[in-house]
Amino acid sequence: MITYKSDQEIIIMRQAGRMVASTHQMLSKLIRPGITTAELDVAAEKFIRSQGGEPAFKGYHGFPASICTSINEEVVHGIPSLRRLKEGDIISIDVGVRYKGYYGDAAVTHPVGEINSNVEKLLEITRQSFYQCLTYARMGYRLSDISHSIQNYVESQGFNVVRNYVGHGIGSEMHEEPQVPNFGKPGRGPRLEKGMTLAIEPMVNAGTWKVETLEDKWTVVTSDRSFSAHFEHTIAIGEGDPEVLTEC
Ligand code: MG
Repeated sequence: MITYKSDQEIIIMRQAGRMVASTHQMLSKLIRPGITTAELDVAAEKFIRSQGGEPAFKGYHGFPASICTSINEEVVHGIPSLRRLKEGDIISIDVGVRYKGYYGDAAVTHPVGEINSNVEKLLEITRQSFYQCLTYARMGYRLSDISHSIQNYVESQGFNVVRNYVGHGIGSEMHEEPQVPNFGKPGRGPRLEKGMTLAIEPMVNAGTWKVETLEDKWTVVTSDRSFSAHFEHTIAIGEGDPEVLTEC
């Protein structure tokens, strides 16, 4: 069942979203060669709690940390560890916050120092695939119009979208209906209506779209070990342009 949020609920989701955004902002200043992903995790948890929020991923289905940190060929759900970032890496950071019973969720992939130009393009196309799909995140379109535009854009740029993991509705649960795939035919699925809140999250691989899960049961990697990027925001459908809730 899709839940449609009242203006009052959107106000709280906006607050949760702002916490997600400022957590990302804080983390982006820490990213450099030499820092461990565990250090980023500790900083994120401290910061989220200092704002009055809770790290939504901690303990979710047993996830052992507050944020997901996925490096290079890791797509999503990487577990923070003592691994140190090094020059030329990319790191996808996914942050979820619960505040007053509502959730915000956003992810971004950062370069660590200098990265090669094809990887730079991967990051930029992933980001753009999100922003260009917002054209369809409006009343009158259907859900899969968003999905289709992401796939179409990403593939036109020579990259591939992950199929096994998708975006989602979000609100008083972190994962609500509907699922928001990053692929598919246009004109399908529910009509977009005011009050729908969605986490749209393109996951884009430089090589094959196929992925597999490592032995830790969490970390998802590309099957060919090509690099992967992730860009996610929580948005609200309104009467005009969608509102990106997890952006400062
Ligand atoms: Mg999400």
